[in-house]
Amino acid sequence: MPQKRQYPGTRKPKISVVVPCYNEVDVVRHTHARLTGTLRRLSGFEYEQVYVDDGSADGTWEAIESLSRRDPSVRAVRFSRNFGHQAACMAGLREAAGDAVVVIDADLQDPPELIPEMVRLWLEGWSVVSARRRSRDGETLFKKASAFAFYRLLNAVSDHSLALDTGDFRLLDRELVAHLNGTSDKNLFLRGAISWFGFPETSVEYDRDPRLAGESKYTLRKMLALSRRGLLAGSITPLRLSTCVGAAALMGGLGAAALRRDPKLLLRPGAFGAQTLAIGVVGEYLHAVLRQVQGQPDYVVKEQLGTPFRPLVEKE
Ligand code: UDP
Ligand code: MG
Repeated sequence: MPQKRQYPGTRKPKISVVVPCYNEVDVVRHTHARLTGTLRRLSGFEYEQVYVDDGSADGTWEAIESLSRRDPSVRAVRFSRNFGHQAACMAGLREAAGDAVVVIDADLQDPPELIPEMVRLWLEGWSVVSARRRSRDGETLFKKASAFAFYRLLNAVSDHSLALDTGDFRLLDRELVAHLNGTSDKNLFLRGAISWFGFPETSVEYDRDPRLAGESKYTLRKMLALSRRGLLAGSITPLRLSTCVGAAALMGGLGAAALRRDPKLLLRPGAFGAQTLAIGVVGEYLHAVLRQVQGQPDYVVKEQLGTPFRPLVEKE
């Protein structure tokens, strides 16, 4: 069980809510109203709302501007074009100043009313509180099936386990946000990166509502791009597979050629194996480079005991 968080004295902990928005003019005012209603009821906390306009072309920015004129808790960032949901979430995390940061979709599919429960669990000491979808209303069968398959495939090939059936609706502690902001990965897959850090995680369950208005902004192309991101960032299983298949074919070729005393057998499966193996080896180097450019730390220290060693400095 993690340690409880305490904020003694006069300082009130601050909750930031990050809202990525892409062409959400029909909903953003409602989202703001419901978020504000929930956040106001959280007594003993300060709060801010960080809207990230991911290059909308439908007046979303103007709507956010008018919200910010009325409500000083609203801050906003506007992208020059559509960079995608993951980039918008990252921009929000960088902008957020809170002790805890909640990322929530703009379309009210994720109920803001879950936030107080997430905050309660955060105060109990959890660093990540994910919202797990028990059901998904008003979504197409294709969307449900592809999401179901996507999470399971990703988990199967990922080097570390991911929370199933959760999107990006979650609360993150400041310490973890600082780590995320410190990585230089330009293809960050947020959900994967979060679980990589290994902070204590828990979840709340909810029934996913249909979108309040408009259509899904996650087109098939965007879903595929997200899957590619997740696969590339989370695992080298596809590369390893190539190394293994190549090595097996090469061994098979060598073995068959030796057994049957026929060098031609070495040429067919053997050559295929050697090539595939070579691709796998190149891939391993690529993977090393990828890890380097992702900018994740080598390790994450959770606690330390004892006085850190300091070398003696001799007086001059
Ligand atoms: N979104 C974004 N950039 C994009 C696509 C989506 O910021 O390129 C936002 C969108 O406005 C919403 C959230 O990401 O707040 C989730 O998108 P959506 O609801 O369309 O996805 P779905 O719920 O259908 O998976
Ligand atoms: Mg949605």
